[in-house]
Amino acid sequence: MNTFVLATANPHKANEMRAVLEGLGIELLERPEHVADVEEDADTLEGNALLKARALVRATGRPAVADDTGLFVDALDGAPGVYSARYAGENATYADNVVKLLESLEGVSDPKRTARFRTVVVVAYPEGEPLVVEGSLNGAIADEPRGDQGFGYDPVFLPEDGGGRTLAEMSPEEKNAISHRGRALRKLAQTLAQR
Ligand code: IMP
Repeated sequence: MNTFVLATANPHKANEMRAVLEGLGIELLERPEHVADVEEDADTLEGNALLKARALVRATGRPAVADDTGLFVDALDGAPGVYSARYAGENATYADNVVKLLESLEGVSDPKRTARFRTVVVVAYPEGEPLVVEGSLNGAIADEPRGDQGFGYDPVFLPEDGGGRTLAEMSPEEKNAISHRGRALRKLAQTLAQR
């Protein structure tokens, strides 16, 4: 059985990671409360995921799993990308970021509103090389927010083949089945099973 400390401090992400990984037989330990948040100052998703996972390995002496995610919008040359959490400023809320995104895309027509979520998941170990996997989800940015499930940019993200619904209009199970994070985590479980 693989047991990892869950490095994410974000409860929404932690819930999604638990739902997928525990369903695949991977045991997750709570992130200890005394561990401070990590400054995510790398310029890639992989770099930030490594920072988060390694901080928890240092704090606990155990293998740790972390995810880092970004929304890459084609009409904005890939922004907000690695800076998705801070798009509208250092202490921006999810709603602030969504407002800024919609403002940035004002006047951009539907066919040009394509975007993708990318998630990099890292498992870091006390010794040896980390394991790195990635998952992505193609879609487009809606004209206005819809739905109250999920978090972050979910209310304005229309996944490809989603029948016109935003991710925030899907149940947690539906989102996990198609999402960037779900895909990366299933890949992680497959990679671990082949070791
Ligand atoms: P983080 O740096 O991986 O914590 O995520 C960066 C930002 O991306 C978060 O603050 C959220 O706004 C957004 N984000 C991450 N994952 C998702 C998701 O699954 N759906 C919508 N937004 C997300």
